[in-house]
Amino acid sequence: MPELPEVEDAAKRLRAHAVGRTIVATRALHAATRRTLPPRAARRLPGRTIVAVERRGKHQLLRLDDGAFLHIHFRMAGDWSFGRSAEDPPRHARFVLDLSDGSRVALVDSRALSTVSVVASADALPPLGLEATDPALDAATLRAALEKRRVAIKLALLDQRVVAGLGNIYVAEALWHARIDPRRPAASLSLERLDRLVRGIRETIEVALANPGRYSTGEAEGLHVYDREGERCDRCGGRIRRIVQGARSTYFCATCQR
Ligand SMILES: [Zn+2]
Repeated sequence: MPELPEVEDAAKRLRAHAVGRTIVATRALHAATRRTLPPRAARRLPGRTIVAVERRGKHQLLRLDDGAFLHIHFRMAGDWSFGRSAEDPPRHARFVLDLSDGSRVALVDSRALSTVSVVASADALPPLGLEATDPALDAATLRAALEKRRVAIKLALLDQRVVAGLGNIYVAEALWHARIDPRRPAASLSLERLDRLVRGIRETIEVALANPGRYSTGEAEGLHVYDREGERCDRCGGRIRRIVQGARSTYFCATCQR
């Protein structure tokens, strides 16, 4: 699954390719794409120039010269493919933007779960918390974001309204760094623990941003708990456990994460 570093990398590639170019035509090649981008919405795109590509959490936003945004979310398996409009679109292309210089951007997705939509203004974007990479994220802002959350901290951190950009792997690793039990109620964490958690989030994200793709499969070296059920904890030698929270796996060390 594309996690924040892969989305950041994708947005960077798209920015280099598309900013300053004008959309000549769009092609929605899959029924699922036509549901989120119906023909009526797609009709406003030709003639618009892409003035910026922004990332918020795992959302990519193409800012257009009329103030609207083309909003893309890769979900489980999306990615960009760049080529020429005259060429056949690549396998699994779901959506194509033909640009004024004869190039094309294709959204490829073997699972066809990615979403493409037009958002009239920034106000209509989904509400998101502070970016995981934002220097303003600290123990106090995190406490404010968590204070009414009765759910377990693991589930609260996956909620993009609390912190934008954290996926299942990063949450597991950040909680390990912070020595926090993923089952603890989110609102119960002390400032000292939240401070450790912020540092854990930074440590995990910074390593990942420097190495796009490294964590997306979960097979990377350097993961301390994720997908390591039954193995020994790198810190204390305890056994890594797997439990299910919110229908997804949680990995943690029950010995040193309290
Ligand atoms: Zn441990």
